Amino acid sequence: MVYSASENRYATMPYRLLGRTGLKLPAISLGLWHNFGDDKPLQTQRDILWAAFDAGVTHFDLANNYGPPEGSAEKNFGRIFAEDFAPYREELVISTKAGYRMQPGPYGEWGSRKYLLGSLDASLTRMGLDHVDIFYSHRPDPDTPMEETLGALDHAVRAGKAIYAGISSYTAEQTVQAVRVLGELGTPVVIHQPSYSLLNRWVEDGEPALLDVLGDEGVGSIAFSPLAQGMLTDKYLDGVPNDSRAAAGKSLNPDWLTPETLKHVRALNEMAGQRGQSLAQLAIAWVLRDQGPRTITSALIGASSVDQLHDSLAALDNLTFSDEELNGIDRHAVE
Ligand code: NDP
Repeated sequence: MVYSASENRYATMPYRLLGRTGLKLPAISLGLWHNFGDDKPLQTQRDILWAAFDAGVTHFDLANNYGPPEGSAEKNFGRIFAEDFAPYREELVISTKAGYRMQPGPYGEWGSRKYLLGSLDASLTRMGLDHVDIFYSHRPDPDTPMEETLGALDHAVRAGKAIYAGISSYTAEQTVQAVRVLGELGTPVVIHQPSYSLLNRWVEDGEPALLDVLGDEGVGSIAFSPLAQGMLTDKYLDGVPNDSRAAAGKSLNPDWLTPETLKHVRALNEMAGQRGQSLAQLAIAWVLRDQGPRTITSALIGASSVDQLHDSLAALDNLTFSDEELNGIDRHAVE
């Protein structure tokens, strides 16, 4: 079947300005960390990407090592892109990253200029693209000067291989430094990608807190794993289903589903019901709630099926919380 995007694709999705840029991101973006490797049927991947774009999800987030095996998510995305999405290239924001382990040896991970620029070229080849919209340093490197890592991002932008530069999982202090270094190079940091969810609130803490730094510096934000990899859904309330990420036992350790955590998840599930939402919807809406200058630009979700995607997208029907609701949620939103 030839894909033709829905004519209504821009009817419902809100788009939010990314920091001080002119770029708008969908309030919900889709990540391809899991569910797009060679271990998943290509047709399921295609169905999820079609459903996402039809609902106005214009931003797809990848990284060099997503799979398994490493690189296969970019390769599979590239195949689906060529067959279905090429006519829509200018309607899409496609991101990739380098920083985690991609190949063995001393040039296979972290933040050297050699690794980052070589990796970006390889990502573009796998995806069949001549540029990405955002290229990230996937994690800070304690052994490489930040000037070198961020200089590589600046080079990628000047070479036309990326339109914007981003950072992921940098602390508040490292972010202040990155904003200065990239600012001096003339390629601003436009986006930070931290983890953030009801079970993981590190971005709110500290002096300064990362969210305050981003607000003060005008850097946009995209929160990854807003469902805590699925723990903030109803799927683990009665045990670990065989087809779940926790059962696969890789990035989501079933040991994290302690009785204490499940007690909070159950309480949050009840609150979601009182709002007429699924727990996944409550968790995503909470990440996107109005926090003034600290407000998150986009929630970066994953989905293993079209049904999950649709359930999560319906979070957008209600992003408003009363003070009473927020206080109740705070009692169960724990690290
Ligand atoms: P989520 O927290 O959204 O978890 C997604 C998983 O939750 C799905 O695979 C599915 O699990 C389950 N799920 C999703 N929707 C529902 C639903 N409505 N009802 C029930 N279960 C649901 O995000 P991810 O952890 O997948 O991360 C999202 C993206 O963030 C990644 O793809 C990547 O792009 C980015 N990321 C970035 C990182 C970084 O270092 N910068 C690190 C991690 C992620 P199941 O498969 O079990 O069905």
